[in-house]
Amino acid sequence: MFGNEEQKRQYLPKLASGQWIGAWGLTEPNTGSDAGNMRTVAVLDGDYWIINGAKNFITHGISGNVAVVIARTGAPNQGQNSSAFVIEEGRLAF
Ligand SMILES: Cc1cc2nc3c(=O)[nH]c(=O)nc-3n(C[C@H](O)[C@H](O)[C@H](O)COP(=O)(O)OP(=O)(O)OC[C@H]3O[C@@H](n4cnc5c(N)ncnc54)[C@H](O)[C@@H]3O)c2cc1C
Repeated sequence: MFGNEEQKRQYLPKLASGQWIGAWGLTEPNTGSDAGNMRTVAVLDGDYWIINGAKNFITHGISGNVAVVIARTGAPNQGQNSSAFVIEEGRLAF
């Protein structure tokens, strides 16, 4: 729903056909339901986002080809303080 056209063309056919498996990475240790207070933070550094943090309970977090990872880009417990990042296999650190 929120991806741009390039992202839709790149990912949806593979995910819809089952060629790729996707994951959704929101939950973190200690801040499961309290997502607005998550500790994973994304900071823009020039042309790159630097993401630091840890997730748990992520179905297909290891076996998936691509994950939508939610990270905090604003102050804790503020509205609209999080952003979604598409991260492909090989760029995920475990
Ligand atoms: C098999 C499995 C697969 C999962 N896969 C994924 C996945 O793919 N991606 C992902 O992001 N997450 C995944 N999860 C995580 C799941 O969504 C979390 O368990 C959920 O977010 C709750 O977090 P928590 O377990 O830390 O519980 P907590 O946040 O500790 O909550 C514990 C209990 O307290 C209640 N509670 C919390 N806060 C309040 C409040 N303010 N008022 C009243 N009640 C409250 C909750 O409803 C819950 O009943 C998975 C979990 C399981 C078990």
